[in-house]
Amino acid sequence: MRSQDYDRIFLSPPHLGRHELNYVHKAIEDNWVAPAGPNLTGFEQDICQYTGAQHCVALSSGTAAIHLGLIMLGVGPGDEVLCPSFTFVATANPILYLGATPVFVDSEATTWNMCPERLREAIEDRIRLGKKPKALLLVHLYGMPAQLQQLQAIAEMFDIPILEDAAEALGSRYDGRRLGTFGAVGIFSFNGNKIITTSGGGALVTDKADWAAQVRFLATQAKDPAPHYQHSVVGYNYRLSNILAGIGRGQMELIDNRVKSRREIYTWYQRNLQDVAALQFGPTEPAFGFSNRWLTTITLDPAHTDRTPEQVRQHLETHNIESRPLWKPLHQQPLFADAPRYGQTVSADLFTRGLCLPSGSAMTETDLRRVADALREILLA
Ligand SMILES: *Cc1c(COP(=O)(O)O)cnc(C)c1O
Repeated sequence: MRSQDYDRIFLSPPHLGRHELNYVHKAIEDNWVAPAGPNLTGFEQDICQYTGAQHCVALSSGTAAIHLGLIMLGVGPGDEVLCPSFTFVATANPILYLGATPVFVDSEATTWNMCPERLREAIEDRIRLGKKPKALLLVHLYGMPAQLQQLQAIAEMFDIPILEDAAEALGSRYDGRRLGTFGAVGIFSFNGNKIITTSGGGALVTDKADWAAQVRFLATQAKDPAPHYQHSVVGYNYRLSNILAGIGRGQMELIDNRVKSRREIYTWYQRNLQDVAALQFGPTEPAFGFSNRWLTTITLDPAHTDRTPEQVRQHLETHNIESRPLWKPLHQQPLFADAPRYGQTVSADLFTRGLCLPSGSAMTETDLRRVADALREILLA
């Protein structure tokens, strides 16, 4: 650790409690360190109980969960998959792993998630061009629920199955129901920067017992039921270890507390920076939505400041405070230069004006005040 790291405020660092160690300890004592064991089963049960999903398979990452989820939806070479443009690249990479093509759909301004109108336009146009999209990937960015009712209605009308990327949205709800349980498949991430963590890890949830069994099978090298290692389909080494699942069990005991802290952080910033006219706070919660407020996001109002988010980021950096731009839209990434896109202005505008503020659940009032003072320094100057 560099000496300056001691007072650095990170964007969204891991926040461990005390109970994780008990589970990890027990795993080592009992010699359960393989990708099998009681922590793994327990962690999966915890996630089912918390989200209301019927079945859960713990995996090595959220990306792995998306990969296997898309396989379950039948995505293969040459297929097209509808995907929001405004998301982290991990949402779309597994589409490429499978030799399929992402079709990017722009956001709407209310939740910053996929726009139902653009979605319908995209589906109709892809069908007109000769190919119905094979699957729809939905994301609840920064924990804010997408307009699920409209999006689901459109997907149903065209009979396109949904994979819900709830990597950032564990604990968020739509009409009272937990996100991740609205699609045929849902996924969560337990990467170090997420609301709870296993250091690295993910999970796939589904209400179909046979799908959960198939995902478990594919995640453990697709061994046919024979003692002599027989294989008929391609498998993967994607299972979470029983040790990391132990961290997950301890973290699941804290999830409600973590959601509460993140929401309080959002409200704190909003309340204490009211006087800074240049700052607009992330998407407002619509009537249907409850957000875990994974990250507090702001946009700069050009009517009130000439500063760019990058100038603000660099200024915070001089105070040893980490902040990050909003996700750069995937339709603007060199990797996806050739991918079809439907609408691009909403996500492009958010990227130009937005910034993620430090939002770790362990932040103290002193930390928050440091961030607020630094923001005031540059935006009221
Ligand atoms: C973090 C994240 C992922 C990937 O999760 P990993 O566990 O890091 O593989 C996928 N989608 C979104 C929107 C994410 O934020």
